[in-house]
Amino acid sequence: MKICKHCKKSKEITEYGKNKQNKGGHEVMCKPCKAKVSMKYRDKKQLDNMKKWREDNKEEVQRKKREYYLENKEHIKAKAAKHRKDNPEMVN
Ligand SMILES: [Zn+2]
Repeated sequence: MKICKHCKKSKEITEYGKNKQNKGGHEVMCKPCKAKVSMKYRDKKQLDNMKKWREDNKEEVQRKKREYYLENKEHIKAKAAKHRKDNPEMVN
């Protein structure tokens, strides 16, 4: 049995992935934790990438937004009008 560094639970060694760089040749955290942590990391990285992309393409994003608005002006206006009609208490 081996205690997972992440969830602090004692689990069978088969619950750990192999890692030759670690003492004992196994990961310090169990497979589910490892998956969770690496997913979080991936999500964060993806988010960072998206943020960076948006920063790098600010003008493009703005232009697209404007284009979308112009193309869908009537639709957006109609939707807003309907929303106002459906939610009269929200006006003013
Ligand atoms: Zn764990």
